[in-house]
Amino acid sequence: MKILTQSSIKTFTSCPRKYWYKFEQNLLPIEVEESDALQWGTALHRGLAAYYSANLSLDAAIEACKGCYKEEFVVAMLTGYDNRYREEDSSLKIVEVESKFSQTIRNLKRNKTHWVARGILDGLVELDGELYLLEHKTASDIDVAYIEKIWADFQTMFYATYYSQQIGRDIVGVLYNVIRKSQKRQGKNESFEQFKDRLVETYLTEGMYHRETVVFDPGLKQKCLDETAYYLSAIQHCRYYGNWYKNYGACSQYRTQCQYFKLCAAPDPTIIAGNYYKRVDNPHREMEEPDASSTAY
Ligand code: SF4
Repeated sequence: MKILTQSSIKTFTSCPRKYWYKFEQNLLPIEVEESDALQWGTALHRGLAAYYSANLSLDAAIEACKGCYKEEFVVAMLTGYDNRYREEDSSLKIVEVESKFSQTIRNLKRNKTHWVARGILDGLVELDGELYLLEHKTASDIDVAYIEKIWADFQTMFYATYYSQQIGRDIVGVLYNVIRKSQKRQGKNESFEQFKDRLVETYLTEGMYHRETVVFDPGLKQKCLDETAYYLSAIQHCRYYGNWYKNYGACSQYRTQCQYFKLCAAPDPTIIAGNYYKRVDNPHREMEEPDASSTAY
């Protein structure tokens, strides 16, 4: 059985060789430097999961983020979020938080491998009797280009398609929360307490949050199934020919070097592999063993 996540698809479309190192060879760098964006996003997701799980409790959200990366920023974000959405969300029915799915991918022509689609949703809510995904994102800026991108987001399409299959009920759209990352720094003559207060004030102002309710086009889920089948046939093609081509354009993006650059650039990759990479059982780090269960509230 092979696992397919939206993240592994993204890796393959970015660079097939990178996909091969990570998801076929199961190699991960020994020293992983998690990006600022990833650590920040993880901390905020933890806080929001606690917030919705505890029936919109800001205290529970802040408690869940104690000692996290950039705690002062995350606390300010959660405080502003509570201030902005508490009233609106009190009429939302929170169905599930942080739910996992695991679904067999069917109807794959000439593909003998048993593929399973997996993922974890931020949440599931009910609005006017219909189910919507709840999705949180952090962004450096919330501009028109970012908002337009939300309407063509493969990740939410993938989650909605396979989670609908799992629960046997249609998910009609996404309640999409975008939270802006403040670039503020502590001033020279400012105490840490003053800085924290200033961050909270920042997150109480306009422009730090955006919420978009996306309703899926009726044909979207079929499109997602077709696209998933297309990606899998491309992966299968590389597996069959043993040719995982490199996309040099992806070696350095957003000023970050690819984690597999050392392997790609080495004259003898076997020496590098032993020194800098470890082989793991499950390279899908965002997915611990799924039990296909979910927590209902
Ligand atoms: S270093 Fe470049 S070519 Fe090599 S795996 Fe990474 S993105 Fe692909």
